[in-house]
Amino acid sequence: MSITVVGSIAFDAVQTPFGERERMLGGAASHFALAASMLDEVNLVGPVGDDFGEAEMAVLRMRGSNVDDVERVSGGKTFFWKGRYHDDMNTRDTLDTQLNVFEHFEPKLSQRSREADVLFLANIQPGLQLQVRDQCRAAKFVALDSMNLWIEIARSELEQIIGRVDCLILNDEELRQLTGAATTVAAAREVLKSGPPAPSIVVAKQGEYGAALITAEDFFALPAYPLEQVVDPTGAGDTFAGGFVGLIASQIGRALDGEVLRNAMAYGTALASYNVERFGTEALASDAVDGAAVRRRVEDLWRFGRFDRLDVELRA
Ligand code: AMP
Repeated sequence: MSITVVGSIAFDAVQTPFGERERMLGGAASHFALAASMLDEVNLVGPVGDDFGEAEMAVLRMRGSNVDDVERVSGGKTFFWKGRYHDDMNTRDTLDTQLNVFEHFEPKLSQRSREADVLFLANIQPGLQLQVRDQCRAAKFVALDSMNLWIEIARSELEQIIGRVDCLILNDEELRQLTGAATTVAAAREVLKSGPPAPSIVVAKQGEYGAALITAEDFFALPAYPLEQVVDPTGAGDTFAGGFVGLIASQIGRALDGEVLRNAMAYGTALASYNVERFGTEALASDAVDGAAVRRRVEDLWRFGRFDRLDVELRA
């Protein structure tokens, strides 16, 4: 089985209380691919500029990811994002966003990318997400991420693409901004009944508090993996999405039931926890984070959350 992802491939400048990087490989699609490729084959789609080097390309190619549709635009500059984290590490300010090569990008997917079973529309202009969705008609499962910027400046296209996916993955604050609902659960319900057609699965990312999964029949939540030190949260959401969508892709063929979705939440959470322990893509691009390491944290998450109910006599 395979996954196609379109989204930003970027250079990021990041300041956190633990240090800073002036220019490191980033982008929603890059973080997603590094995580998803632990579970399935990945095709990456997106443009980069002349400034994108062979070393960065080698990271994108890790675990056999296919970069044939990573288009090098001659004379162009790679997408650039700059952000600064507050002391709580859960909130950040965007200091600069330069779309550069994404401004005039017209995705033309190779046959291999078009035929993937699973499509992830990582964060980028909703108009581009729509163009890619049109080309991947065979996909059995499509998930989408977005952000406040697109809710503010491209709402109509964003609503169109939301109607054409199975799963919406968004920060809880952005879910509320999108729907106007006061709570995350109410916002998710609004999305689930926004169609037809509408997504049947909503995942609300809650930063250091974890993530919640809401469908018409079910609710499930996991806390973030407990860490003593978070160095750089950049890309945590995309890494989570890579684990979540990657696990679903690895199970295509069996019913997408609560068990698969709960495992997807656990793999997303475990992978995201490794991502935030180092800057940018450093952790997921290192040998230290291998299958055994990920399985260990999934096992821990299962242990942390389970309990056997006591037969308690209540006084009311
Ligand atoms: P996350 O921390 O999961 O929200 O993702 C951070 C990544 O998103 C960074 O590596 C940025 O390069 C990328 N990013 C930031 N702003 C945008 C944007 N407006 N469109 C697409 N990607 C973005």
